[in-house]
Amino acid sequence: MADTYDYLVVGAGFAGSVLAERLAEGSGKTVLVVDRRDHLAGNAHDRTDAAGVLIHAYGPHYFRTNSDKVVAYLSRFTDWHHVDYQVLVWTGGKYWQFPINLNTFEQYLGRPSTTEEMEATLAKWRVPVDHPKNSEEVVLSQVGREFYEMFFRNYTRKQWRRDPSQLDASVCGRIPVRTNRDNRFVTEKFQALPREGYTAMFKRMLDHPRIEVRLKTDYRDVRAQVKFHHLIYTGMIDEYFNFSEGRLPYRSMRFEPETFPKEFFQPAMQVNYPNDFDYTRVVEIKHATGQKIPVTTVVREYPEDFGPGKEAYYPVPADDTKVLYGKYAERAAQDKKTTFVGRLATYRYYNMDQVVAMALTEYERLKTR
Ligand code: FAD
Ligand code: UDP
Repeated sequence: MADTYDYLVVGAGFAGSVLAERLAEGSGKTVLVVDRRDHLAGNAHDRTDAAGVLIHAYGPHYFRTNSDKVVAYLSRFTDWHHVDYQVLVWTGGKYWQFPINLNTFEQYLGRPSTTEEMEATLAKWRVPVDHPKNSEEVVLSQVGREFYEMFFRNYTRKQWRRDPSQLDASVCGRIPVRTNRDNRFVTEKFQALPREGYTAMFKRMLDHPRIEVRLKTDYRDVRAQVKFHHLIYTGMIDEYFNFSEGRLPYRSMRFEPETFPKEFFQPAMQVNYPNDFDYTRVVEIKHATGQKIPVTTVVREYPEDFGPGKEAYYPVPADDTKVLYGKYAERAAQDKKTTFVGRLATYRYYNMDQVVAMALTEYERLKTR
């Protein structure tokens, strides 16, 4: 295509694809997008498996947002299938409503209860902490030790291989606690999946005469050959700088699909396993996609240490990692030929809508360059 591209974008996930689309369509720029995986959509990638079931390849991706701007933008490329995401926890030999709410509390008591009783009980159970500094304190200050041990402590240790006390308060603080009967997993006002899936949405975003996409292409292999004016980088920030300040920690994951010759395998789209088994959760996304098909596929998630040959799925939000990331952020700020955007390049535990908003903001900045 072009001899010299206006932009080289590393990564065809949300961050890279939104910027590529905006720069091509909004500013008339030529863009080359490279991704070292063999598909679009980064970790949001979904696909139809051998049995014909639409699955989320890298963990469940529940799109939710309070931002009208983000919904309006993505709606140019997809219609939506509205869903109330619901999650159960399996522990002590039974299913529990999760996140913790009045229904969970009643299951715990083994009898009907009220919001007033739950609030009065939590007031007794809560460990008073004015400003929770970590994930242990945030849960103890919301629900006390009993529910912390039942639902949070071991799941968190399995997922992060760190004690909740060694993780930022925002990690377990993501999970709401309610004293009503709202069973929804998340609280944002807009909760929906792209009607034909994420990958189809990304295809439409990137289908543009001024965008070229090269999959199975690592930036490190092409940077010497491709000519471009500005770089958008959405990969791991420490890798970009050749780990010069030391390695940032990430969590990886093994996703194991299994297909069953029946309509549904489990009672909800996601069941969490805080205290049993090596996996953290079993996801049957068919509950959410609404696909009608007589077979089903579940995906089990086994947390793994990050290392050679593994994908980095999660940054690890904690005091020590903030310090190390800060050193890379300083170097990134000095690099005027590169824009760092997205979950791995800014080392933030961001949801999809936050990454879209971040990319749209970066576009506004780049537009006026
Ligand atoms: P990514 O999707 O990671 O994209 C970066 C891309 O860059 C990758 O495709 C990678 O292959 C490519 N890349 C990196 N380095 C190079 C290189 N050197 N050369 C070429 N290509 C490179 N968010 C929600 O809102 N709701 C959810 O329910 C939810 N669930 C999640 C569950 C799991 C298990 C995970 C891991 C994440 C979840 N997320 C969820 C978060 C969501 O995946 C991210 O917010 C979003 O995908 C981040 O987009 P991104 O473009 O920043 O990064
Ligand atoms: N968490 C937990 N028990 C649960 C669900 C979540 O302890 O049953 C904690 C755990 O530390 C997890 C974090 O809360 O990593 C955030 O959970 P979420 O489901 O939002 O994680 P993600 O979908 O990003 O993996």
